[in-house]
Amino acid sequence: MTESLIEIQDLKKHFPLTGGVFGKTVGHVKAVDGVSFSVRKGETLGIVGESGCGKSTTGRMLLRLIEPSEGSIKFEGKDITNLSKKDMRALRRDMQMVFQDPFASLNPRHTVEKILEEPLIVHGIGNAAERKQKVKEMLEVVGLSSYYAKRYPHQFSGGQRQRIGIARALMTRPKLIIADEPVSALDVSIQSQVLNLLEDLQKEFDLTYIFIAHDLGVVRHISDRVGVMYLGRMAELSDSDKLYEKPLHPYTQALLSAVPIPDPDFKRETILLQGDIPSPSNPPKGCAFHTRCPHSMEVCKSITPVFQEAEPGHYVACHLYSEDSSMTNK
Ligand code: SF4
Repeated sequence: MTESLIEIQDLKKHFPLTGGVFGKTVGHVKAVDGVSFSVRKGETLGIVGESGCGKSTTGRMLLRLIEPSEGSIKFEGKDITNLSKKDMRALRRDMQMVFQDPFASLNPRHTVEKILEEPLIVHGIGNAAERKQKVKEMLEVVGLSSYYAKRYPHQFSGGQRQRIGIARALMTRPKLIIADEPVSALDVSIQSQVLNLLEDLQKEFDLTYIFIAHDLGVVRHISDRVGVMYLGRMAELSDSDKLYEKPLHPYTQALLSAVPIPDPDFKRETILLQGDIPSPSNPPKGCAFHTRCPHSMEVCKSITPVFQEAEPGHYVACHLYSEDSSMTNK
């Protein structure tokens, strides 16, 4: 089996909630509450869930753009959870992020050339002439002419701006790209072009991807495995094909039922979930999904299901698949 590039164990992020005159901590928002997974070299792991499920916080914690409250992160076998800021900055050469809104993440006052050159300057790569050459080459790689180097972000379309965002992430030739909803802000017609580009670049640059999205339809094509998050925890994680053909967790089943199927002869019943996603500052006891789950049982209200392997390589946190009493009461 290919070795892991990144591995996280029981990762948590609890943001303090302050209140009162003295600004005391009155509670915590459990944005991420104990997530574990690993990503193999060359693999694409999709992470999916509704907004507020903790997927973006998880992505940012991997790069330590947000500091974890608990848990560990290993990159190439090395524990980077407590790496100094200086060492972490150096490591970001290998780990880059592509953001959802390319316009917000590109400095509007800088030319594309300056935007793409910056990561090379930060990491001390090449002299001025070499850097300019690399910028030109990368623009061509992402499907933009090098002629655009002197233009500003506002002179591009949304799809072109995302290509610039991708080019910027690739400038240091990273090993891992964390793409946080990279196509959500784009027109549907442009989305597939950007997804195809990401796939081509993965092969060309031997990249490993963590691809964060709120829609199972978007990650299906690009992901080898998919993890589904709900209220700060992983509900299900499996090979992409298995997850789409035979989802085990009731939440995944509901999400999948809303994904349109291109075959008009194939009808699938849409599962409508009751209510809204609860607040992560006050998550329901037991299984966090029990307030909305169509299969909720008595046990679900008090006991948190363990995230365990229900079938080879297929993990799920749900009492419907618990075989023993090794359930934790968290
Ligand atoms: Fe539904 Fe219970 Fe499974 Fe949670 S543990 S998903 S409430 S059946």
